[in-house]
Amino acid sequence: MDQIDLLLVNAHILTMDIHQAQFNPGAIAIHEDKIVGVGLESEIGSNFSAQEIIDCGGKVLMPGLINAHTHVPMTLLRGLADDLRLDVWLMGYMMPVEREFVSPEFVSLGTRLACAEMIRSGVTTFADMYYFEDNVARATAEVGMRGVCGESVMKFPTPDAKFYEESLEYSREFIKKWKNHPLIVPSIAPHAPYTCTSEILRASAELAMEFDVPLQIHISETQLEVENMRRDQGMPVVPWVKKQGLLEAKVLAAHCVWIDDGEMRTLLHAHSGIAHNPSSNLKLASGAAPVKKMLDSGLNVGIGTDGPASNNDLDMFEEVRLAAFLAKTTSNDPTALPAQQALHMATLMGAKALHISDITGSLEPGKRADLILVDLSRLHSSPHFQRDPNSAYSQIVYSAKSNDVTDVMINGAWLMRDRVLLSINESEILKEAQDYARQIDTFLIQREESLLSKLIAVGGLTEEESFEVQAKTSISEPETVIKTLEESGIEIIRKRHYHEYDTYFLFSDDSQGFLRYREDHFIDERDQVTTVRSRLTLIGKVVEHRFPHDVLLSRSRYLAPASQSLRFYREYFKPVKEIEVEKDRRRYLVNYKGEEFFINIDKMLIPFPGNFLEIKSRTWSKQDADEKSKLSVELIKFLSPGSLEMIPKDYFEMIKR
Ligand SMILES: [Zn+2]
Repeated sequence: MDQIDLLLVNAHILTMDIHQAQFNPGAIAIHEDKIVGVGLESEIGSNFSAQEIIDCGGKVLMPGLINAHTHVPMTLLRGLADDLRLDVWLMGYMMPVEREFVSPEFVSLGTRLACAEMIRSGVTTFADMYYFEDNVARATAEVGMRGVCGESVMKFPTPDAKFYEESLEYSREFIKKWKNHPLIVPSIAPHAPYTCTSEILRASAELAMEFDVPLQIHISETQLEVENMRRDQGMPVVPWVKKQGLLEAKVLAAHCVWIDDGEMRTLLHAHSGIAHNPSSNLKLASGAAPVKKMLDSGLNVGIGTDGPASNNDLDMFEEVRLAAFLAKTTSNDPTALPAQQALHMATLMGAKALHISDITGSLEPGKRADLILVDLSRLHSSPHFQRDPNSAYSQIVYSAKSNDVTDVMINGAWLMRDRVLLSINESEILKEAQDYARQIDTFLIQREESLLSKLIAVGGLTEEESFEVQAKTSISEPETVIKTLEESGIEIIRKRHYHEYDTYFLFSDDSQGFLRYREDHFIDERDQVTTVRSRLTLIGKVVEHRFPHDVLLSRSRYLAPASQSLRFYREYFKPVKEIEVEKDRRRYLVNYKGEEFFINIDKMLIPFPGNFLEIKSRTWSKQDADEKSKLSVELIKFLSPGSLEMIPKDYFEMIKR
């Protein structure tokens, strides 16, 4: 008889191995960190002599669940901003807050909070991608959980790297440091094709292959991502990443909501694993991944919670149930994804998707002792039928709750006994997390009060602290004005023709000014639109000075290239009112009496038809402004003699009416 450390007896064992073997009453023999025997109690009991024997009281004993995709430190951002579209949520809230707060301490605390939550709900292994991943790995190892930890790499500055080269260097050191750790499998995580360059994808794949570690990435999460890829590269996402050499690595692809049959085949041939995230896809309305098709094709599909800021919890019992329900309802087939298969995805198949099924995912001799006990005797799981040998799977998937998990062992060590966490001080974590929440609240409250800081938060802002002299009049015949100007002998430095679409965002506190989203469509000689440029401008309300003839001196605008859509800015800034203006603009830069002026001749189409002549000039001193004000009036009188009245008020006030 072999001498071993521990024997667990009187359990209903679901091994989740490829034969889906069950033993009831079963026993499992554990020595050091490994499983050395699994079987019927009668057999195992006579093969091993254990130092300690624990009676499991008839509970289900099964492998711990595998959370195939998450961002654990984001527990600290849970519930921060919900019910938003992915881009507004990510670019408008998550990334700005992350830039401000994410630090090694933040990441360690968030990881411990996540580990506590996951252990309590029967998770023994998770695949993570975030920043300062060394701190994620360290906190995870200290708690005693198993993690596939990937440092995120992006083309944008991140909380731990100004340039992506730094993240790649960090990843190399990180992988070297954690390679062969008993609990941590280091990995690299180029965030997504749309947040990375092809160089990042290539370098990440090479690094993953050099050290033979998994590579994690988000793939085809939204329809928009696929449309953009088709537009820019003429192909869907999977063939494009394949072209960048990405699929040479051991890939774990999160989401894959919008992949087609050909892409499934490509991923299958590359032995890529998939992480399906039902809650996240449902909550962000990303769509429903073709899970049944993926499984039928032979792909290894695990189940993940995604980050706790987009879910908002790390409850794998809920995910497994949702995965089954979602597959049924989208395939219009209640026999699709039965309970046993759903649980398989969250255990052995999940381990395969993470490329670590040699060490965990099922209860088999030689594998690490990662297991949980589940109490199926509670009200919501009772009674229990014996007729169908597979009824335990449906009980776990369809009626059990995560807090029916009573005990958790990882790598041969107990981390929870009888619902008491043994390696984490919960109350301490809760208090520290609340302190962060207070700080983040303060930061966001301040930011939301100022249009300018909201604009800064979404990036790309350039300040234009300039003064401008403006004169404007309405005219009756723009063609005549153009003719007069072009034949006047006034030196024309540059001329442009474009169609302008403006959307003004108005806010209840109008002392902060207003925002203008402008799309300029440049029009060439043959009346074709050549390029389109979008800009966002914060325009102050302040009129500094009125010269005679209603020439205005205005000040201070903040400009940002509008890298997001109009819809994004609308949902992010939440204006109380919007005004649309559309006009055809002939714009001249001229030299008039030694000074530079812009002359705009506008045919306004929306909100009402009208023609305008506008003279504008940058100015730097009082004296210069006086001079330019006079020249502006002169120019107006010259170009549009005897014309119509000057526009007495702010032009914008007129449009508003
Ligand atoms: Zn994710």
